[in-house]
Amino acid sequence: MSRFLSARFAGLEAYTPGEQPQDMQYVKLNTNESPYPPSPEVFARINGDEIGKLQLYPDPEGKILRQKLADLYGVMAENIFLSNGSDDILNFAFMAFCDETHGAMFPEISYGFYSVYADLYGVQAKQVPLQADFTISAADYCKNEAMVVIANPNAPTGLELPQNDIEKIIQSNPNHVVIIDEAYIDFGGTSCVDLIHKYDNLLVVQTFSKSRSMAGARLGFAIASKGIIEDLNKIKYSTNPYNINRITLAAGEAAVDSNDYYMENCKKIAATRERTTKELREIGFMVLDSVANFIFAKSDAISGADLYAGLKKKGVLVRYFGKEKIKDFVRITIGTDEQMDVLLEKTKELLAEGG
Ligand code: PMP
Repeated sequence: MSRFLSARFAGLEAYTPGEQPQDMQYVKLNTNESPYPPSPEVFARINGDEIGKLQLYPDPEGKILRQKLADLYGVMAENIFLSNGSDDILNFAFMAFCDETHGAMFPEISYGFYSVYADLYGVQAKQVPLQADFTISAADYCKNEAMVVIANPNAPTGLELPQNDIEKIIQSNPNHVVIIDEAYIDFGGTSCVDLIHKYDNLLVVQTFSKSRSMAGARLGFAIASKGIIEDLNKIKYSTNPYNINRITLAAGEAAVDSNDYYMENCKKIAATRERTTKELREIGFMVLDSVANFIFAKSDAISGADLYAGLKKKGVLVRYFGKEKIKDFVRITIGTDEQMDVLLEKTKELLAEGG
């Protein structure tokens, strides 16, 4: 820290991203990326005309991509906001909808960035414990006078909150924005996008990073009432109007055009998840019922910290959070069947070696 940093950031604990080793020697199951490459249409589009136009600024409104997404999700282009990864939207939402008097609430065990944004903007954050079975209790989020943020399915548990519970939360907070972060929705969950036609306080956040194999391109989108999208645009145009680069916009358009390819990949990933869950349970693991592209698992035979470290030594990278209430667990991204075979083999070796 230099002596120039504003005092208000002195105690800020920044977000720690998952490990991104650059030598690619690991079976990488730690940051919920897709194991499948982008569609051929994406390659063709980026390598074609877009590269030759890099001297030009991108369309700050992302009109073409917004219209394509609007058509895909049955909304109007005015209901779509594009962002540099979905983190960008969460950042803008905390900036737009919270202040000293309007706090935020979210599950205590959830995506780690929510509390970082709250701290960054000096927002009162109520972190609500999960139930003993790691589910979210909708009643905890009703009539709380704060912006609500819920990842559905939740991360790192992978558990889904039923639609009627989500609707209860939205209905009981009419004067606050309710953010449903659907980063992992395409792997088996039920999206609540259709509820935006009914509720003007619902903000649905999605990303191209997971189901659409574009974590490296940084593209997220939000679907919400026209008013909420206008608010997000106010923040965007006051910070970084060109928040999505030209190559990413073009890649996003091609990805929406090849939606079937990605939804097929999601089905494959869901099938691999079910098989991996079953096989881990057969060797004594407790695995939560995930509808995401990762599973949250623990074993009585080996601690979470040892499993993470042991697998890393054997060339398999998983995510270990080490937080008190989940310190026995690791989060494992679902890769290809071949990658999961390696994970299972190395896990069995570790158990045989005595944990
Ligand atoms: N929401 C959740 C629940 C996540 O786990 C992540 C990233 N891992 C994000 C949002 C942000 O993803 P991105 O910025 O890549 O869209």
